[in-house]
Amino acid sequence: MNKHGTAAGGSLLLTPRLRREYRTMECMVEIWCADHHDEAARRGATCDDCRAFLAYAERRLEKCPYGEAKPTCAKCPIHCYKRAQREHARVIMAYAGPRMTYRHPWLALMHLVDKVRKVEHPMEIRRRRARRDAADPHATTRENGPDDRLQE
Ligand code: SF4
Ligand SMILES: [Zn+2]
Repeated sequence: MNKHGTAAGGSLLLTPRLRREYRTMECMVEIWCADHHDEAARRGATCDDCRAFLAYAERRLEKCPYGEAKPTCAKCPIHCYKRAQREHARVIMAYAGPRMTYRHPWLALMHLVDKVRKVEHPMEIRRRRARRDAADPHATTRENGPDDRLQE
């Protein structure tokens, strides 16, 4: 467990991209919490509510189908967050995003790179694949595994 009480050490974030995304979210929540929640100032650590939000974000990342090709969540065609958590993430990022530039410049830079990445909804990829397979039944077996399909 890290200082926020989250389980990142034993999490199922399988790719470096997903682990970096979690770290970016962790830094943003830390900035938000320190400036908004008294409990954080008293304890010198992220408050219970923010730890719960981080745990939610981590669970979403564990199930994220994009893996190494993950876009920013704001540009994701799936939008797997529930409405309330998505709005909360938007508010945190609007506050912490500009502050990331000087507190965590590398993560901020990589977030800009991630913003440029475009992905399709998995259903659209499957539909296109089905059309292609109908035209050429051997096309699927010539390709790579399921994760690669999301990165087409
Ligand atoms: S919103 Fe999209 S990119 Fe973000 S964790 Fe969910 S599926 Fe992955
Ligand atoms: Zn907090």
